[in-house]
This record gives sequence, C-alpha cells and structure tokens, in this order.
Amino acid sequence: MRTCFGKLARACQDLCFPPACLACGARLPDSVGPLFCSACAVHVRLLNEPLCRCCGRPFPWAAGESHTCGPCLKKPWQFTAARAVLYYSEPVAQAVHAFKYRGNTTGLATFRQLKDRLRHLDSLADADLIVPVPLHVHRLRERGFNQALLLARALFPAQRRRITPFLLTRTRLTVSQTGLSGGDRRRNLKNAFAVVAPEQVAGQRILLVDDIFTTGSTANECARTLRRAGALEVRVLTLARVSRE
Ligand SMILES: [Zn+2]
Ligand SMILES: [Zn+2]
Repeated sequence: MRTCFGKLARACQDLCFPPACLACGARLPDSVGPLFCSACAVHVRLLNEPLCRCCGRPFPWAAGESHTCGPCLKKPWQFTAARAVLYYSEPVAQAVHAFKYRGNTTGLATFRQLKDRLRHLDSLADADLIVPVPLHVHRLRERGFNQALLLARALFPAQRRRITPFLLTRTRLTVSQTGLSGGDRRRNLKNAFAVVAPEQVAGQRILLVDDIFTTGSTANECARTLRRAGALEVRVLTLARVSRE
C-alpha cells in the first residue's frame, strides 16, 4: 500500500516538476535517478579503486591494489585520506555548477545514489564528526546556503546528528581559488580557518566534506586547523575530484 502511494506521489511530482538531466536539461521519463540522460550518463565516471591511499588520485590504467602515490610519499598531507565520488569533468561539472552557483538541489539524491555505488566509501561514515568545509559569512549571505553542508546531509542521512556545521569557521574572506596556482592557493588559505570549540574536536576522528577537490589546498588547510585543535584524524570526502592522471 505504502509502495503504491509512494509511486503515485512520485508520478504526481514528475507531472508537476518534469524530471530533467542535471547536465543538459533533457527531459527524463521519471525521477527515479540518477538524473542523467543516456547520452550524458555514459560520461559520468565514478572514482573506483585503485586509488592513491592518501590523496585519492585515481590509477585508472593501473591494475592491482590501491597504494600511496609518489607525491604523497614525498610530501604528506594533513589529512590521512581524501576520497571523491566522481571525476570532475563534463557532464558532472555542469551538474555541480548548477548545484553550487544556481542552487539547483535536485541533484542531491543523484549524488547520494552514485556515492552509494562505491562500497570503498562506506567506512567514511564511521567518523565521530562530519564537518562541512565552511563558507565565510559574507559568502554565505551572498549564496544563501553552504553547498558542503547540503552535501554532507545528502550523502550521510543516517549520520545527520554527527554533522557539525558550526565547529569550523572561515575567519578570512579569501579570493576565489579558481585560476590560482597551487602555491597561490596555499598562500590564499593560510590561517583562513579556525575551530570554534576545540574541546569538541580533541581526540575525534573527523570527516571533512566539500564539493570539489582540485589541488587539495582547502582540504589540507582545514585538516591542519582541525589537527592543531587536537583532532585524532581527518579524512576528506568531496563530491568530485579534478583528476591529473
Ligand atoms: Zn543529459
Ligand atoms: Zn597521493
């Protein structure tokens, strides 16, 4: 009975708000998801293993097990592991852009469906605290929402009580990281974050959530701040990862 009602409710919703491809906007027959048309879906790539155990860099042409990549062996990060659901390339980039800059939240259920296909991400849900990368208060007012918080809630619905959006804050309004080199990104973010209540962080295993992993500078700076406040471990999950294969 409940299933029938659910199907009827979905059919009514689909009639009022016709489901469309998150990337190209093509009409879809239903909203069961993932919301990508067949032409776009073939280019949606999940970040499967083998990966770098630390930074999550994919080894798409390598056979065998995940291992630590050369750059991570040379220069360790402040986080122990960074993982992502999707490659940041078209059509995913368009879907992420619509979510982040146009506030299109219809993709959140799709993002969760895709994340749930990657079993190697299951262990991330064990974290004591889930911390979305914060926006500066000015940017939050401008945008009206923090995309990292919405993602954390969508990707970890069963861990909602462990999501702590106000523990880490952005103390400086930094310029956009887009277009900056790796070094400039690091300088731009230096001391840009602070922990509001270090006693809540001390000894905790933290999962940091963000939308895109580009050079890793943001995740690394947040992890540094959390570890300085006493966090036992910081792992990272982003929706998408810019891949330099
Ligand atoms: Zn499409
Ligand atoms: Zn690595």
